[in-house]
Amino acid sequence: MMLYVVATPIGNLEDITLRALRVLREVDLVAAEDTRHTRKLLERHDIHTPLTSYHEHNERTKAPTLVRRLEAGEDIALVSDAGTPTISDPGYHLIRAAAEKSVPVTPVPGASAATAALSVCGLATDRFVFQGFLPGRRNRRREMLRQLQGDDRTMVFYEAPHRIRESLADMHEVLGDRAAVVGRELTKVHEELLRGTLSQLAGELDQQRGEFVVVVAGRGDAPAVDEESLRTEITRLLKRGQKANDVAKLMADSHHVAKRDVYKLVLEVAKGQGPGDDGSGI
Ligand code: SAM
Repeated sequence: MMLYVVATPIGNLEDITLRALRVLREVDLVAAEDTRHTRKLLERHDIHTPLTSYHEHNERTKAPTLVRRLEAGEDIALVSDAGTPTISDPGYHLIRAAAEKSVPVTPVPGASAATAALSVCGLATDRFVFQGFLPGRRNRRREMLRQLQGDDRTMVFYEAPHRIRESLADMHEVLGDRAAVVGRELTKVHEELLRGTLSQLAGELDQQRGEFVVVVAGRGDAPAVDEESLRTEITRLLKRGQKANDVAKLMADSHHVAKRDVYKLVLEVAKGQGPGDDGSGI
């Protein structure tokens, strides 16, 4: 009697552990989100374990049946279409029902889009918050983001391709222009890692196909920017004819520095550019 919670690949079919393959071969039943999808994975490894469907529409009703089979001594493996079951995927009701009946549950860990993205994001990963999918409705999405505004942990979101640009724009608006990383089609042939600020990424993502994870820096966790780089950026913006006040605001927003401090620096840089070309607009 054992419920195995088995991670499967999120794209690259080689990302499955030896233990996962053994467990999938040895259990009496595999409970799968989409049996056709999982059958292909099993067939690829010459595994012929019977499958039953367990998805978001039947998870509440089916959980007791599966728990009865476990109590009768069977071993069951739970898998989802991709990655780790229960992470923005079905599984919670079954695991809870099993735990209530003291049926042992064990993880067979492996891929998950969230940890894959975190592992390469280059942002702080000592503490993070997994937010999964944001609500589809704009005001609810913004409300949720507002709740995260003051959080200084790195944030991980899943997003659907048709909403990625809209969500990044809302994140920019509500959270400010923070450092972020978008992982697209991770582990697949067309894998992409886009790094930048939220506004840059929102502008860049015209490509709206594939699967996306968005990792956003927590409040105050924008990579520290040294004064020399600030000066270089300020000089560039002033040369483009931007006004001192606008440059200060832009710098303050994108680098999480106090506007009055950066404003002093802008004026200093403007002065250095010589009379008649101070760019300060004042
Ligand atoms: N249980 C899965 C896991 O452990 O990552 C997540 C399932 S959730 C229904 C599917 C979402 O995960 C996708 O919409 C996307 O946001 C993200 N995702 C899954 N595979 C991905 C990949 N290869 N690259 C980027 N994001 C991925």
